[in-house]
Amino acid sequence: RELPGDPETHNIPRAVRNACYTRVDPTPVRAPRLLAWVEPVGELLGISRPVSPVGPAVEVLGGSRVLPGMQPYAARYGGHQFGHWAGQLGDGRAITLGEILGPDGKRRELQLKGVGKTPYSRTADGRAVLRSSVREFLCSEAMHSLGVPTTRALSLVATGEMVVRDMFYDGNPRPETGAIVCRVAPSFVRFGNFEILAAHNELDTLRRLADYVIREHFPELGAPSPSTYARWFEEICRRTGTLAAHWMRVGFVHGVMNTDNMSILGLTIDYGPYGWLEGFDFQWTPNTTDAQGRRYCFGNQPEIAHWNLTRLANALAPLIEDHAALEYGLSVFGETFQNAWRGMLADKLGLVSLGQDGDDTLVSGLFDLLQQVETDMTLFFRGLMAMPVDTQGDNPAATMDDATLAAPLHRAFYTELAPAQMARLAGWLRRYIARARLDAEATSLPEFADVRLERMRYANPKYVLRNYLAQQAIEALEQGDAYVITRLMEVLKHPYDEQPGHDDLADRRPEWARNKPGCSALSCSS
Ligand code: AMP
Ligand code: MG
Ligand code: MG
Repeated sequence: RELPGDPETHNIPRAVRNACYTRVDPTPVRAPRLLAWVEPVGELLGISRPVSPVGPAVEVLGGSRVLPGMQPYAARYGGHQFGHWAGQLGDGRAITLGEILGPDGKRRELQLKGVGKTPYSRTADGRAVLRSSVREFLCSEAMHSLGVPTTRALSLVATGEMVVRDMFYDGNPRPETGAIVCRVAPSFVRFGNFEILAAHNELDTLRRLADYVIREHFPELGAPSPSTYARWFEEICRRTGTLAAHWMRVGFVHGVMNTDNMSILGLTIDYGPYGWLEGFDFQWTPNTTDAQGRRYCFGNQPEIAHWNLTRLANALAPLIEDHAALEYGLSVFGETFQNAWRGMLADKLGLVSLGQDGDDTLVSGLFDLLQQVETDMTLFFRGLMAMPVDTQGDNPAATMDDATLAAPLHRAFYTELAPAQMARLAGWLRRYIARARLDAEATSLPEFADVRLERMRYANPKYVLRNYLAQQAIEALEQGDAYVITRLMEVLKHPYDEQPGHDDLADRRPEWARNKPGCSALSCSS
């Protein structure tokens, strides 16, 4: 181990100094039992699915057994939470078992979440409930299949122990099943790992951690030096910009974009009170803890990513004399996000680009339209694929009445459109179709229509992890029924494909789920 570790290895809460991690073992659980397994991640790692839901392999994944050679540890990090420096946080319930060299020659970290106390647990119990573990397990894999950079999940193990959280039923806290996710990523290092070192002026350790991360994960940048650090920061900004654009593209709201939840590799990390946009609304947040300020709402995500990168820039500043280089990195974030988001929007609309006169008005008109009545983002964009953008001859939209034209979008609306709203929708659709036809006319390729639809298809998922679908999977699993989660996992593996027989999983949120706990609003409690 080339990074400085904590000389103490017990899990009593304390302020750790001059260290990147603490050696600490998982706390064994009563009855580890395998609930779900991700075959493709197993293949990536070269691990086959345990043949039985109980046994030595499952004990490892449940934190009850440490294999020879493993040196489990919890990482030390800090973070800015809701805009304020929160001091030391660290892996309070996650423990890394080690790294595995996969058949592809790549090394990946295996981390168990919910395996008991560490020095970073503060007053909490180090455990995770089934509800939150299923949500992380399902969503990280759904994001991967959507093409969004993310950590992944290998296994979900029930602990056979109960955990009490502030989920109240009939006024009483209800004990919940405990569960542990084994999550997988090249690294779980966060912005906060650097922030804590800078905050305590542990500059030698800061440099060593930076060198380690660059050597292991950014080798293309070359040997560490002040200019390497600057280019490294720039690359983090670039990746974070791409990540934020993807979140906007698929309608994902992370919910707790604190700097301790920002991956240095530009991955989506720490799935907590996240949510998926159903009604399109830039102001929407799934996190009840953030309902007032809406700091982490859908539309703020790019701005918050930039704010978080600024915190990282401050932490890295001691390594980089030329602060203009940090400013430049931050500008790269803005540029990357803008270009990526614009490109993705063009794809979502099936336009070659959004560079023509009037395109900005078309897009702002779209966002206004999406917010005039509660409109399902996923269904709306997918429905646009059915618009009559005929490349040959007269514009068919010209002679269609409003309701016929808008019919493919019908399922996207949670409420009936008033006549004025219908007229507004149809007006926008006619402008959109006319614009899309310009692209078609500008190219003479006979397959243009097919190319256009393919681009739209892969920008606009049909299946996303709607909040109520995750909740249904959780409730079934709590009753011992794994069918719901298994089916959902399979369907979400191919989010862009039509999957006959599974259209119910692509439908808009049913009315019963509107205000049901777990289906729309979530607390940080997990
Ligand atoms: P989060 O808001 O989930 O990113 O968590 C912030 C911090 O709280 C991290 O340091 C977590 O490890 C820690 N934490 C969250 N839940 C628990 C828990 N049940 N036990 C111990 N630490 C926790
Ligand atoms: Mg976290
Ligand atoms: Mg969390």
